[in-house]
Amino acid sequence: MCDGDNLSNYRSTVDLPSESDIVIIGSGFAGSSCAYYLYKNADLTKNPLKITMIEARETCSGATGRNGGHLKPDVYYSYKRYSNKYGQQIAETLMEFEAKQIDAMSKLVSEENIECDWTVTRACDAYIEPEIAAEAKASYEQRCADGGNVSDIHEIPPGDYLSMIRVKNVLYGVTFTGASIHPYKLVHHLLNKCVEKGMNLQTNTCVSSATRLPSGEWSIVTSRGTLKASKVIFATNAYTAGIVPVLNDKIVPIPGTVCRIIPSINYMLSPLEMTYSIRSNGHNFDYMIPRQVGDRSIILGGAKRTYMYNRKIFHNNCDDSMEFINEKSKMYLEEFMPKHFHNWGNDQNGCKQMWTGILGFTSDLLPFVGELPDQSNGYVIVGFNGQGMPRILLCARALADLVLGRIDKIEELIPEPYIITKNRLETKENYLLDRMAIQSDLTHTS
Ligand SMILES: Cc1cc2nc3c(=O)[nH]c(=O)nc-3n(C[C@H](O)[C@H](O)[C@H](O)COP(=O)(O)OP(=O)(O)OC[C@H]3O[C@@H](n4cnc5c(N)ncnc54)[C@H](O)[C@@H]3O)c2cc1C
Repeated sequence: MCDGDNLSNYRSTVDLPSESDIVIIGSGFAGSSCAYYLYKNADLTKNPLKITMIEARETCSGATGRNGGHLKPDVYYSYKRYSNKYGQQIAETLMEFEAKQIDAMSKLVSEENIECDWTVTRACDAYIEPEIAAEAKASYEQRCADGGNVSDIHEIPPGDYLSMIRVKNVLYGVTFTGASIHPYKLVHHLLNKCVEKGMNLQTNTCVSSATRLPSGEWSIVTSRGTLKASKVIFATNAYTAGIVPVLNDKIVPIPGTVCRIIPSINYMLSPLEMTYSIRSNGHNFDYMIPRQVGDRSIILGGAKRTYMYNRKIFHNNCDDSMEFINEKSKMYLEEFMPKHFHNWGNDQNGCKQMWTGILGFTSDLLPFVGELPDQSNGYVIVGFNGQGMPRILLCARALADLVLGRIDKIEELIPEPYIITKNRLETKENYLLDRMAIQSDLTHTS
C-alpha cells in the first residue's frame, strides 16, 4: 500500500474494482498525463469520475522511468522528410507541435509546483559525419525557404564549434530551445494528485486482453480478475500490440541504453549548460543531458550503433532487465566523453550506472493517438519512438478532451499524421526496417 509519496507498488484497493468509467492501461508519462487531464478537465460537479489505472509492474517502470529526460523538440531535422510525405503545412504543424510542448510543460510544472529537475536551456545538435550534416542543413534550409518559424534555431558559426559547444570534429551544428526533466519524479507527482482525486491505481496487474462487448462496454481481463469499463485508454507504448491486435507489427519494441557519467575534474571547472545530440547518421545518435543540479552528473543515452545491426537484440525485444546491451555498448559509453568533448581530460572511469529500457517504434516513426477505428470508446496514446518527452503532454491533454466529449475531433488539437486511422494501419511502409537495412542482410552482428 501507499508508502508516503512512493506509489511504486501501490494498490488503492485490495481487490480490483469490478467496474469503472474509464480504465487506463499503463502508468508511464502517457497514462499519467491522460489521468491528470481527465481529472483536471472533467466536470466533477455532476458525477465523480471513476478511473482505474492498471499497471503490469511497478508504477512508471517502463520507458518513462528509464529514460534520459531529454525534452528536445524536432524543429528542423525531419522537416524535409515530413514535407515530402505530408506537404509543407503539415510538416510545419509537426515541428510547431513539438516546440510548444516546452511551454506547456513549464506551465504544468509551475502551476502544480512539481519538483522534477525541470530545466529549460538550449539544445545543441552537433553533426560529425558529412552525409548527415548535409542532410540536416538541407532540412533546416528547406524550412527556412518555406517560410517556417525558425526564429529560435541558430546555426553555429563553424569557427565557434569548439569554443561555443566544446564538441570535437563538428561539421554542422545548431542550437534551439530544449529542456530536461526527471520523468519519474514528474509521473509520481501527477499520479499522487490523481490518487488524491479518487483514481484507483492497481500496480503489478497485467492486462491480458481488452475486448469490446456487444453491449458497447469494454471487458478488461487481468492477472487479478476482470473489470468492465465504459471507456478504455491504452497507454502501453512498446507493449501495445500484445493487447491491441490491429497494432501488430505497427509498434515494435526495441531496446535503448542510458548511463550516468560522473564529471571529470576538468569538466567541473566549467560544466556544460546545454543539452546535446551528437549525430553520426539518421538513427545513430547519442544524447547527453548535463544535470544542472546535485552532483552535476551527465546522463548519456545511445550507443545504438553497437547493437542495432543485430536483429535479435534490436528488433522486437522486450527485455529491459539488461544492465547494458553488450560489452561494446558499455565500452562505447565509457569512452564517449573523452572522445567527443574538448578538454574532458583522460578520466574514463566515470560511467557509474547503466540501464536499458524499451522504446515503442512505429512503422512511420509517429505515435498513434485517438479512438481505435471500428472500436468505439477504445483509445490509444502509444508509439512515441524515443521522442516521447516533446510529444506526450499535449497528446494526452487532447485525448482527455476527446474521451470526456469536450471535443469531437482530435485533429483540432494534434497533428493529423499522429491520428490512428484505418488508412495508416493498412499502409505497408516500415521506415525503421527499411532505413536501418536490418531486414535482409544482417551481416553486422556486432
Ligand atoms: C532508455 C530510454 C531512453 C529514452 N530517452 C528519452 C529521452 O531522453 N527523451 C525522450 O523524449 N524520450 C526518450 N525515450 C522515450 C520515452 O521514454 C518514451 O517515449 C516515453 O516514456 C513513453 O511513455 P509511455 O507512457 O507511452 O510508455 P511507458 O513509460 O513505457 O509506459 C507504458 C506502461 O504500460 C505498462 N504496460 C504495458 N503493457 C501492459 C499490460 N498489458 N498491462 C498493464 N500494464 C501494461 C508498462 O509496464 C509501462 O509501465 C527513452 C526511452 C528509453 C527506453
